[in-house]
Amino acid sequence: MEVCTTPNELRAYVRWLRKQGLSIALVPTMGYLHAGHMSLVERASREAKRVIVSIFVNPTQFGDPADLEAYPRDTKRDLAILREADVEAVFLPTAKTMYPDGHETIVETTRLAEALHGELRAGHFRGVTTVVAKLFNLVTPDVACFGEKDYQQLQVVRTMVRDLHFPVRIVGCPTVREPDGLALSSRNVRLSPEDRTAALVLNRALDRAEEMAAAGTTVEAMRDAVVEMIRAEPRATLKSVDIAEPGTLKPLSGPPSGPLAVMLSAEFGGVLLIDQREIFL
Ligand code: AMP
Repeated sequence: MEVCTTPNELRAYVRWLRKQGLSIALVPTMGYLHAGHMSLVERASREAKRVIVSIFVNPTQFGDPADLEAYPRDTKRDLAILREADVEAVFLPTAKTMYPDGHETIVETTRLAEALHGELRAGHFRGVTTVVAKLFNLVTPDVACFGEKDYQQLQVVRTMVRDLHFPVRIVGCPTVREPDGLALSSRNVRLSPEDRTAALVLNRALDRAEEMAAAGTTVEAMRDAVVEMIRAEPRATLKSVDIAEPGTLKPLSGPPSGPLAVMLSAEFGGVLLIDQREIFL
């Protein structure tokens, strides 16, 4: 497995793969790998001949410097995991490489970034689109795999690819969960045992939303029920509940007449977790 830390190394490596006529799938990550990331790697290896994984804790998508600082990192462990998998190369850039001195260019999906709690996660999606655009330019992948767990991120990336004509196919992959329903996340390691148990409320709230949608309940009543469930969990600080049209993420109202995406975010002991479910009626 090749480990590239600079754009030049990576480009040379990509050229070498291309010379052999090999297609490339990219899996962008922030590291501290778990089975959710590895499901993306597995899917990527079915989508293209060679898989490149990037590991970069992208500072521009963190609003809070303390959150960036506390984000778990273990590159040695990540590389050991990737060596056991079907991965051709890992891109491990530094922040200085990704954001050269004096950098000033950003990529932003204007409507979506604003609509998705622009006020709550100011600059988050702009940081995501900017770094993903850089990774696409460096790796030039045929395919890139993203998790549905970060549902809003997936839609923002799809929109950017469409609008800027990136020659890459985006593949969304299902959320991998613990047996008790907790969505795998690198952040879970920071949860106390009590907060970890409390965090199960997210998946339970999604179950409730799905039951209500199947019964034809209005989106407003569904949102109220989800808010109430999460607020009833004393260890949870609710951040957002969105019920929107999948893909466009346009807000919905009234009785559901088609598929819905329910997206939740809440903090447990200061750790921000998100979860989502697409509901097909
Ligand atoms: P992250 O390292 O958290 O930025 O995640 C990197 C990629 O893995 C993103 O596309 C995430 O959506 C995806 N991912 C994170 N957690 C999961 C999960 N539990 N199941 C599937 N994909 C995931």
